Amino acid sequence: MLEGLMQDYPLTLHHMLHRMRDVHPDSKLTTLTAQGTRTASFGEICERVDRLARALRALGVADADRVGTFAWNNQRHFELYMAVPCVGAVLHTLNVRLFAEQLVYIIGHAQDRVIFVDDSLVDVLAPIAAQVSCVRNYVVMGDGEIDPQTLAKLPGALSYEHLLEQAGEGPFEYPSVDERQAAALCYTSGTTGNPKGVLYSHRSVCLHSTASLMSDALGLSSTDRALVVVPMFHANAWGIPHAASLCGADLVMPDRFLQAQPLAKLIESERPTIMGCVPTIFADLLRYADQNDVDLSSLTNCACGGSAVPRQLMKDFQQRHGVRIYQAWGMTETSPVATYSRPPAPPEDAEAQAQDDYWDARARQGTPLPWVQMRLVGDNGQQMPFDGLSTGEIEVRGPWIAAAYYNDPTGAEKFDGGWLATGDIACADERASLQITDRAKDVIKSGGEWISSVELENQVMAHPDVIEAAVIAKPDQKWAERPLCCVVLREGSTVSAQQLVEHLRPRVAKWWLPDEFAFIEEVPKTSVGKFDKKVLRARLSEDTLQGRVQVGSEGRV
Ligand code: AMP
Repeated sequence: MLEGLMQDYPLTLHHMLHRMRDVHPDSKLTTLTAQGTRTASFGEICERVDRLARALRALGVADADRVGTFAWNNQRHFELYMAVPCVGAVLHTLNVRLFAEQLVYIIGHAQDRVIFVDDSLVDVLAPIAAQVSCVRNYVVMGDGEIDPQTLAKLPGALSYEHLLEQAGEGPFEYPSVDERQAAALCYTSGTTGNPKGVLYSHRSVCLHSTASLMSDALGLSSTDRALVVVPMFHANAWGIPHAASLCGADLVMPDRFLQAQPLAKLIESERPTIMGCVPTIFADLLRYADQNDVDLSSLTNCACGGSAVPRQLMKDFQQRHGVRIYQAWGMTETSPVATYSRPPAPPEDAEAQAQDDYWDARARQGTPLPWVQMRLVGDNGQQMPFDGLSTGEIEVRGPWIAAAYYNDPTGAEKFDGGWLATGDIACADERASLQITDRAKDVIKSGGEWISSVELENQVMAHPDVIEAAVIAKPDQKWAERPLCCVVLREGSTVSAQQLVEHLRPRVAKWWLPDEFAFIEEVPKTSVGKFDKKVLRARLSEDTLQGRVQVGSEGRV
């Protein structure tokens, strides 16, 4: 082999720090607080990251140690995003919404040595702290002096700001780190078995965030202001903070104020250009903005994913508020962005936007990013063609796709042969544009044929009176399974099950029409804000699902 003669420059997060310090020191990070907002420049943040690096050393954090965070999206959490991997340790972002038993399991499994916690979350962590023995220190993060009573709730707790003060100023000598070294750890919000750790390397984080800067992906640039609503404990906030550190986009962080009202206010005052979050948060924001005449016009390029993004949601945002939402697909195991859906025609083209085709294309999950390879695998292990019709389980491989779970042989079958079996069922067209039909465990098989719950939900949610819709399989003697559609109606709406059937009739195949609806108050959500169909299925089998109305299946199957 004739070896290429190019430098072996390591892909590590130190380069992100360098970009922030030397290329974009004036970019800003703004955090929403109970008192208003607090802003720091990237230059100032780098100085604090240096102090934090020294403080981590003083706490005895060594190479490869896991450092937990129990925090919302804010400046201090971002400082940890940078400092922890750059000293050679592993940033472990804990999901603050998990049940206590899950957190006890995850902290013990990861063997976190130190946990950094927001002062607003100390009361949530305190009961868990009593059940874990691996943690040597807790560090409480908050503005001003931390109340001693708050500190006393966690064994040996220290104040973040005191630590930084004591650490002194000046540059820190960061160790050199191999690009394959672990940088971050995030446990999946999986619904079965124990949570599983996905261990990102410096290299995978660097490549993923670089790819997300492409205009066919997130397209983040130095002129953007990114509002990061997706939690920093959900797959590294989809890589947005890392990408911003590379390109110098401003960051706007909502801390714990995730309701539509504070978000709307923050958007009006901070004028972000990009926002990333799951569809349920976008839907809440849309309702609030419609009712309160909120100016969302600064948002021109939003990223949405985590579950299928309803067509109608994208359409309403674009047509009523000029806000463009683009869909991404991925999972914690894929860092998370694997595909991105950019419009087939220029979004400015009003004629194109009036076409159903345009919105059908926008509602797809998009094409794989460069370096991500994708295939669809059928029931018998055969590769399915990309013909727009054939469905199979999505398998992916690439440099930011997990190769195994951290210290956990269960689930190893997902990684057979160097491909990750994602558990998502989809078809793809001739241009590899993906359309998810279901999560494998959510599929509905009626009379031997698949019904896409994702597409049914999409169509039901296109009804102006429907706020949320989740379709689950109901056991059926004749057809094995039939779709049952759980809906949440707009307040005051009197729309009936039969009217919903009539709304669906021209939109889906006859045999897809649900024979039963359940009018519920809210679709239960997971810890990262997705529809939790597991809870709905449990209610159905326990016969506690409220508001059920049969419409019969006559003439449709
Ligand atoms: P998580 O690891 O919690 O991010 O969950 C990953 C799962 O979310 C994927 O396997 C999909 O089932 C689902 N998901 C993510 N993005 C999308 C999307 N755009 N459309 C449909 N499902 C999605």
